[in-house]
Amino acid sequence: MKPISFPVLSVSSSEFDERVRKNVNDCIFCKIIAGQIPACKIYEDADTLVFMDIWPIVKGHALVIPKRHYADIVSSPAEVLAKLIFVAQKIAAAQKRALKADGINIMQSNGRAAGQVVDHIHLHVIPRFNSDGHHWNWKTQKYADGPEMQELGDSISAELNKAGK
Ligand code: AMP
Ligand code: ZN
Repeated sequence: MKPISFPVLSVSSSEFDERVRKNVNDCIFCKIIAGQIPACKIYEDADTLVFMDIWPIVKGHALVIPKRHYADIVSSPAEVLAKLIFVAQKIAAAQKRALKADGINIMQSNGRAAGQVVDHIHLHVIPRFNSDGHHWNWKTQKYADGPEMQELGDSISAELNKAGK
């Protein structure tokens, strides 16, 4: 497994503080990184691990994780997120070539309300086939007549515009 070159610097080792160490003891993905439980690894470099999801939505489903423990997208440093999507692109391309996938889904969940089960940030890279039979079953909603959509958009936008956000 040749490391994929990546132009953004990794997170410094000084960030690997006691808080992170504490999480490692309880986290199934940290245990995979530490070699304490087995996984079907398909790519590894200094700060990233990719392995097969044991309960695939579609066969070939892989998970891209940082070696440093961060729970979710909000608590992860931007350079960690950048590296994850960079590696996910390579995995997606490899799935298309190796498995003859017709398409790829990239999925990422944050919090129980969003369906996150493992609190170590991960990108799902899921190969899709014209005949794979999987359906996301997304049910769409409708905004109330009037300003509802605009007000929700404005509240998010106002938060972004606050100093330091
Ligand atoms: P999420 O719901 O986004 O937190 O996804 C967690 C994913 O981790 C699920 O798709 C599980 O199938 C997968 N998973 C949990 N434990 C393992 C494991 N030991 N090895 C590989 N994948 C796992
Ligand atoms: Zn972890």
